[in-house]
Amino acid sequence: MSRFFIPPEQFDSPRPTVSGPDVRHITKVLRLGTGHTINLLDGAGRAAVAVIEHIGKDGIVCRITEHFSPGGEPPIDVFLVQGLAKGEKMEYVIQKSTELGVSGIMPLVSKRSVVRLDGEKKASRQSRWQRVALEASKQCRRARIPEVFPPREMGEVLRGIPPGALSILPWEGEKSLSLKDALPEEKPGRLYIFVGPEGGFEDSEVEEARGSGVVTVSLGPRILRTETAGPACLAIIMHRWGDM
Ligand code: SAH
Repeated sequence: MSRFFIPPEQFDSPRPTVSGPDVRHITKVLRLGTGHTINLLDGAGRAAVAVIEHIGKDGIVCRITEHFSPGGEPPIDVFLVQGLAKGEKMEYVIQKSTELGVSGIMPLVSKRSVVRLDGEKKASRQSRWQRVALEASKQCRRARIPEVFPPREMGEVLRGIPPGALSILPWEGEKSLSLKDALPEEKPGRLYIFVGPEGGFEDSEVEEARGSGVVTVSLGPRILRTETAGPACLAIIMHRWGDM
């Protein structure tokens, strides 16, 4: 059955309404009408079967008939702190990380990030990236849409990490600890992965992160591109503690 994300407040309403580009998709592409059923998801883990009651100008009005557990979510929360890279690379990273089960993406304004975002551009990029996460979540049939956070600097990101989380920073300069050896026996409550931008992290950023308890790891002798490093780490982590 086709799945559609609606905002949580719509999901809770007695007559949840699907609006935006999905309307055209439902009526023109899938050719569904009154009486047909679809799946509604709130993007935060809830799902329901719903009957189409009315097709109006403002959207498709539905009635929920039954809730169900949608699956699709890994048993571990992993956040990717991604050094701001060029536009298409960020989109690639967001799409692939979503498929791999990331819980959230935190764009990092890193010292060597060539991309600079001012106030307005920051907001428009963030909403575009959030859209990429939404599309990827639909395509891969996730129940949750990973949150794309506003771009922040290292200090701010570090201050937001809750106690008990495991934070890992892949760094080419790390020669002794591999990612494999850095992963403990016990599944951590939450994991943060810090990946540098195209030009990598500056030493001062690595020191700052280490000072806050972030563990630097090596991903082996080959230098991965920034857009490869995050998805590679996610795949390894999902294999270890997730559901791959
Ligand atoms: N500074 C490098 C490239 C950075 S690669 C250069 O220009 O030569 C981008 C990011 O991917 C790095 O900041 C790091 O977080 C991660 N990365 C890539 N390959 C890695 C490896 N072999 N070990 C650890 N981290 C790696």
